[in-house]
Formats: sequence, C-alpha cells, structure tokens
Amino acid sequence: MASAYPTVKGQMFSKKLSDSMYLIDLKPLDIENVIASYVLYGKKVAIVETGPTVSIPNLLAGLQEIGISNEEVDYVAVSHIHIDHAGGAGTLLQKLPNAKLIVHPRGAPHLVEPEKLWTQTLQVLGKIAELYGKIQPVPKERILTAYDEMTIDLGNHFELKVMETLGHASHHLSFSEKYSGGIFPGDAAGIYVSKYDVNVPTTPPPFNLEVTLASINRLIALEPKQLYYTHFGQTRNAVKKLKEYANQLRRWAKIVSDSMKNGEDSDTICQEVLEKDESAKSAADYMRKNLILREGVIKQDIQGFIEYLRKNTWNP
Ligand SMILES: [Zn+2]
Repeated sequence: MASAYPTVKGQMFSKKLSDSMYLIDLKPLDIENVIASYVLYGKKVAIVETGPTVSIPNLLAGLQEIGISNEEVDYVAVSHIHIDHAGGAGTLLQKLPNAKLIVHPRGAPHLVEPEKLWTQTLQVLGKIAELYGKIQPVPKERILTAYDEMTIDLGNHFELKVMETLGHASHHLSFSEKYSGGIFPGDAAGIYVSKYDVNVPTTPPPFNLEVTLASINRLIALEPKQLYYTHFGQTRNAVKKLKEYANQLRRWAKIVSDSMKNGEDSDTICQEVLEKDESAKSAADYMRKNLILREGVIKQDIQGFIEYLRKNTWNP
C-alpha cells in the first residue's frame, strides 16, 4: 500500500499536485513540459498515461521520487494508443509486476500486437518515432478492457471514471476523478501551452470534428474544476478552457472551409490559420523550436480538418 505522505528525495521528474496526486514530467529526449504522466494514490495506485518507450526510465525515477515502489502500482490507464501516450506501455508493464493496463477495446489489440501500429507510427512521424523508441507488446492477460463509465475504485474516496471521448481517435478515452473534480482529457481537449496560456488543436487525420465537439461537451457537462493535460500540465478554469478549445476548433473549421472553397493549397491554409488565430500564432513560434511539438504538428492538424471537411459538410 502506498504511504499517504511519501517522501520526496531529489525532485527531478515529479511535482506534487495534491496529497494524493503527482505529475511526472516525462522529459522525453530531455525536453521538458511536453508529455506528462499522472500518479494518483488512494489505497491503490494508478498511473494515467505512460508516454513513449524512451522516457519510461524517467517515469520510474519519478515514481521512486514520490516513494512508490514498482510493486505498488495497480493500474496504468492510457487515453489512446498513440506513441506519445501509450508507446511505452509494454516496457512499463515489464517493470510493474502487479499493474493492469486500462485501454479502449479498439486500442487494446494494437498494443498486444504492436507491429502494425509501429509501422504506421514510423510512416507518420518518421525519425521522431525512432527517437520515441519502439513499441513493445503488452501481454493480453494484463489488459483490463475499458468501457464507458467504468469506475476504478482507488480507495480513500478516490475513483477514476472512464469516459469514451472519441474524435481525436476512434478509440479515445478521458478519465475523470470525482474527488478532486479533475479530468484527464488525453488529447480530447487539445494541447495546452502554459507559457502563453493558450490551446493548440491536436487534430491529425483521421480527425472527426463533430464527434470531438460532442466529446468536449460531455466533459463540460461534468463541470470539472481542473484539467490535467498530457500535453501539458494542470490548469484550473477547466470549463472555460474546454469551451475555448471548442470555439477554437469551430474557428479553424471556418477558416479551413473558406480557404478550401477558394481553392487554396494546404500550406496556404496553414498560414491563413496561423494569421487568423491569435493563440495558435503565439504558440507556433514556441512549437517551431520544439522537436516534439514542432510546426509539422500544426500542418498535420490542418490536414485533419481538410480531410474531414472534404467528406463532411460543416454548418457552424
Ligand atoms: Zn498526444
């Protein structure tokens, strides 16, 4: 059982958020503030998001800082199977002998046999996929298949609840925690750049705008007090942030669909969006300098909108 007040030695990766929750900055490739895992502990211990393979040693070091042994971890929950969220799950589970992996049923088979997922990831991300590290398989018997509204009782009032929030991916989950009033939205609420206090969409193909907006509305209906972003960190004003993100998506849809009607190519559309969206503009410069949140992310996000709008009519 985890101690209620774990000892913190040299704080390198972990940051205490409350008596029962820590953020671990995974610092993949030594880059800070891009991918977070969260550690929650009541009587049981749960980790939300694993990050990629390359930063699993940092996640384990963070656990050690908090004072939680590898044997004490009961659950590892991932929002979806993209490499920056769950690529390290197989490697992590090898180190956590008692942990079960909570994942969407449509994502689970790809973690059990990750060859296809790895090939697709290499196609989309190229060199960055290799830097993130190969995706190791998760033994089937260690998976706890998630379903909508499934609850995971962690003891001491703590309860994680699964919410199916599709749109970013067709197998995306968010997790809510009633006691702290917090939500772990994975990629359902975009990327949060705290330096500028702005959101940036994360909408690569196959992105579904309508389904994403419905998922955001579902999160808003819970009236959360905090958001715990995977990319990156904790923010209060959760409802305001979620509404702002939904509006940003609508704004992008309008810009992209107008530009498509004018026959513009995707590079021009990308420039147009960055010119017209103040928050994306301020974040873009920061992202340009960042290997992981690089500018290509925004191009892929725009591509997600273009492909969606080609197939669907959008009536704001
Ligand atoms: Zn992500």
